[in-house]
Amino acid sequence: MARRPLVMGNWKLNGSKAFTKELIAGLKAELAGVEGCDVAIAPPVMYLAEAEAALAGSAIALGSQNVDVNVQGAFTGDISTAMLKDFGAKYIIIGHSERRTYHKESDEFVAQKFGALKEAGLVPVLCIGESEAENEAGKTEEVCARQIDAVINALGVEAFNGAVIAYEPIWAIGTGKSATPAQAQAVHAFIRGHIAAKSQAVADQVIIQYGGSVNDANAAELFTQPDIDGALVGGASLKAPAFAVIVKAAAKAKN
Ligand code: PEP
Repeated sequence: MARRPLVMGNWKLNGSKAFTKELIAGLKAELAGVEGCDVAIAPPVMYLAEAEAALAGSAIALGSQNVDVNVQGAFTGDISTAMLKDFGAKYIIIGHSERRTYHKESDEFVAQKFGALKEAGLVPVLCIGESEAENEAGKTEEVCARQIDAVINALGVEAFNGAVIAYEPIWAIGTGKSATPAQAQAVHAFIRGHIAAKSQAVADQVIIQYGGSVNDANAAELFTQPDIDGALVGGASLKAPAFAVIVKAAAKAKN
């Protein structure tokens, strides 16, 4: 089954009003006329208004780096699905390793966020992946299965219909040390197979992005792999020309 690739930029804690406008203007110029790949950006929520305005008329979708499970009320500092929808956000990153680590987010809590997004009609981008120690201990598949099963146990495998998984080995994030295409493909095939054991139809359509030091030099080779359906990009998403090369590589490899 042909899956439409998705390349998404995770800006993390970077930017300003001016930076947001400038980077989006650059992306619109670089990506004009590029087809065959869905593209999204997740600026800090503080700049969603600027991003929404700057993206007007473009095919680039708006996303966010996080969401809370509560819809409204006394939850100081949190951001709801309804607020993200208010700004036209579509793709919402959850379970990023930086939130699992620095904010102690558990698999179950991330699964709750997944449910809140589905309920709101937003697209969860579920980040999963093992640490370096887990990788060296041969636990990659066990960790990925556990993180996916938290969602399946809470919501059923059908929850992955229309959803996105980002396989992001923690040792590859921001280190400049990407997984090799073969390494990443092996884990992506495992992830798809794990979902297929519950539902082949769900597994066939779910987008599985690779994330971890993807850049303009290594993206094309990663996208030659059959189960790599795009990328979640951190550092290289902060420069329009580099991000555009990654998007174009996905569009070329998958069409
Ligand atoms: C990320 O944090 O989602 C990520 C993949 O970062 P980088 O591309 O910088 O490794």
